[in-house]
Amino acid sequence: MSGTVATTCPYCGVGCGVLARAGSDGTVGVAGDPSHGANFGRLCVKGAALGETVDLQGRLLHPRIRGADGTVHRASWDEALDRVADGFRRTVDEHGPDAVAFYVSGQLLTEDYYVANKLAKGYLGTANIDTNSRLCMSSAVAGHKRAFGEDVVPGCYEDLERAELVVLVGSNTAWCHPVLFQRIARAKEAGAKLVVIDPRFTATCESADLHLPIRPGTDVWLFNGLLVHLFQQGVMDAGFVDAHTEDLNAALAAAAADAGDPAQVARACGVQAADVLAFYRLFARHERVVSLFSQGVNQSSSGTDKVNSIINCHLLAGRIGRPGMGPFSITGQPNAMGGREVGGLANMLAAHMELHEPAHREIVQAFWSSPRIASQPGLKAVALFDAMLEGRIKAVWIMGTNPVVSLPDADRAKRALDACELVVCSDIIERTDTNAHAHVLLPALGWGEKDGTVTNSERRISRQRPFLPTPGEARADWRIVCEVARRLGFAGGFGFESPRDIFVEHARLTAFRNHEPRGDGLAAAPRQLDLGGLASLSQPAYEALQPVQWPVHEDGTGTPRLFTAGRFAHADGRARFVATTARLPAHAPDREYPLVLNTGRVRDQWHTMTRTGKSHRLAGHISEPYVDMHPHDALRSGVREGELARVHSKWGAMVARVRQGGGILAGNVFVPIHWNDQFASDARVGGLVNPVVDPVSGEPEFKHTPVRVEPFPVRWYGFAFGRRFLPTSEFSYWTLVRGERFLRYEIAHRERPKDCSRWARTWLGVHDADAGWLEYEDRNTGVYRATHLRDERIDACVFLSPRPDLPSRHWLASLFARQALDDADRAALLAGEPPGGGTDAGPVVCSCFGVGRNTISEAIRAKGLDTPAGVTAALRAGGNCGSCIPELRRLIAETHAAADAELTQ
Ligand code: SF4
Repeated sequence: MSGTVATTCPYCGVGCGVLARAGSDGTVGVAGDPSHGANFGRLCVKGAALGETVDLQGRLLHPRIRGADGTVHRASWDEALDRVADGFRRTVDEHGPDAVAFYVSGQLLTEDYYVANKLAKGYLGTANIDTNSRLCMSSAVAGHKRAFGEDVVPGCYEDLERAELVVLVGSNTAWCHPVLFQRIARAKEAGAKLVVIDPRFTATCESADLHLPIRPGTDVWLFNGLLVHLFQQGVMDAGFVDAHTEDLNAALAAAAADAGDPAQVARACGVQAADVLAFYRLFARHERVVSLFSQGVNQSSSGTDKVNSIINCHLLAGRIGRPGMGPFSITGQPNAMGGREVGGLANMLAAHMELHEPAHREIVQAFWSSPRIASQPGLKAVALFDAMLEGRIKAVWIMGTNPVVSLPDADRAKRALDACELVVCSDIIERTDTNAHAHVLLPALGWGEKDGTVTNSERRISRQRPFLPTPGEARADWRIVCEVARRLGFAGGFGFESPRDIFVEHARLTAFRNHEPRGDGLAAAPRQLDLGGLASLSQPAYEALQPVQWPVHEDGTGTPRLFTAGRFAHADGRARFVATTARLPAHAPDREYPLVLNTGRVRDQWHTMTRTGKSHRLAGHISEPYVDMHPHDALRSGVREGELARVHSKWGAMVARVRQGGGILAGNVFVPIHWNDQFASDARVGGLVNPVVDPVSGEPEFKHTPVRVEPFPVRWYGFAFGRRFLPTSEFSYWTLVRGERFLRYEIAHRERPKDCSRWARTWLGVHDADAGWLEYEDRNTGVYRATHLRDERIDACVFLSPRPDLPSRHWLASLFARQALDDADRAALLAGEPPGGGTDAGPVVCSCFGVGRNTISEAIRAKGLDTPAGVTAALRAGGNCGSCIPELRRLIAETHAAADAELTQ
């Protein structure tokens, strides 16, 4: 492709390389980069749909300031930056540096992160700068530091392909890191075994040789038991343990205390002892084991212990630092690791140095020549917002994140922002739940516009390169921070002219700590994070930088695998076993809140949907917030599939559609994290999540909140399609889906309209008496349906019923792409079904090719297909990103089971 730019996907921590090209007609084409070591040309459906998310609808294009009357008005950059700088200066002068704070994001580029940290810690003198990465992987950071002496992922993605056994712990990899899961799937095809440890039966489990549905929060029992088992079975690598580790005996004693045998473990974890033993034997038998873990491990009040209990097993067996083995933290965000490199967490300094180490503080301050350095660790995310609510923090600058949706006890976060004297938000989108609380809105550059680097989960630094023009007055985050720093009188430290200038300073700092001879007595143990080979990049070299894994040697080559010589980053070079104590989650279910809420992602959405919510392709798979329940719990709670339910916890409540997906243990419910006030009436699950955090990492317990589910009574359910936004404030419940050439609303309300026809015309804005208006009403059943046709096309429709089982939306949605409806379609409109018995494609399974569930089931039935490859050959479904292959596998099994059942009747 001419004009093609090699860049990096802005979503998950896999960090796939993307080739992007902006067309002259405003479209953007994307493809996987075949030369990028993270994905070798593959993209999942989110990455493949990136071109659909770069339009300017809803973008924040100019600085905006909230006036004394509460309204927000456009402002010049000078006005906005002066307001920020004046507010921060006045607050520091009057209340000290710890009265200001920054809350940043794993979506920022490393260069943005670096200058924000430098400003906070080195110039304002506060470490009150934390990041939304605290919410997803800070337990992994803390576990790495305890075990290895540094926040380091030892292995690389290639290890997954070279492993004999892959253990996925608390990770729905098939949905959350799909391209990596495809690499695991290929390893499995080549003979590797796959064990999945997850309370839910997720899409990932479809491919597992063994699924252990352990009780939520009991991972430490399971891995402590594995440590004891490996030790008892003589699987210990005594030479490695003696030469390269410390503290085994304490770890073994702690493990044996509560997980001495598989039966004890099985009782604690709520699974069969035979399955526990099967897992232990698989682990013991295979030398090349990768244990990949994610949010199911990290987001817990014992997350750090969970991480260390996994690492302990790899240390005992000496399975680390060699191909095909090791503990592997997979991050949720595109640049969580880059942020950690530059000290993006409140307890860290740049270049993997520690705030609590005086020598480290001196090194960083000396390198920066800064007037001061924060003297103690700052407040971690949850505590940071608590401090705002209590008035200790009076000014906050939020960059690229949406804490009113994503923090636990999120309504408290809302109140915290309202208590702040100055809330500054840098964002690419104007209307978000968080921006509604801002005093100053600063327009930032988005993906495709900004320029810098990110680091993925295997330590691979890749460039994000611009290929789109700067929209409106948006600016790069690093440039905005530097402008404020200059206004605060810190021009000397922020004279950067380009992202390359910042990156080189960051790289030099990592080398300065490790290599610079110092006669001043300053000392820091060498770190693996060493970018010395990139410390003198010229501008052309930075522009051409190829993906490289740190540490980066002087000749510019990277390092795929660490600890190959058994030397770790603790001062004595030895890794540490950590004594981990099994303990249950902080809040147990009780009579009032008898169920356990688990939260997570769905396959085709990302975070708070500000970007993915724009793509019609991504909306087709799961388009509504839901609460997934076991049928027994649904029955006990008095709710039914398809109805609405209110989910309550001690901290808040939300409304969602009841689902019985079949993969959830009794006593548990699952709610996705994505929906918020921009897409639904009342669906922020963060409002329910308990604010308990891990005592070491400060990571919240998103996976375990006691809740109650109860009916959300309404008089009618409905849906509507239109080509324009419709008002929603009158409804008890609504959600919004952006489709191809339409907007779809799911609606429900407590009061039925007295005159449905009049109400529907008014709501849909059809005021012309002669308009193409078709309607049907059955007053006995309470069913009402109406459609509005304009110029032979469908313009809007609304369907209401006292029951939730309304017609499928898929055929109606497809009509919005037609230039003209034929007579048969018109005649079928009010039935909501295709004419002449045609097939409704059903909900989208393969988003890449838009293939629906009904189409796939029919092909399986008609053609006797029995493998995903067969479905791909017949329908293309599953033939691109592969994210839907686990669902294809399930559909094949379900369809054949249904056919067998018919035969036996
Ligand atoms: S797996 Fe998907 S979301 Fe993650 S980086 Fe790759 S393309 Fe992006």
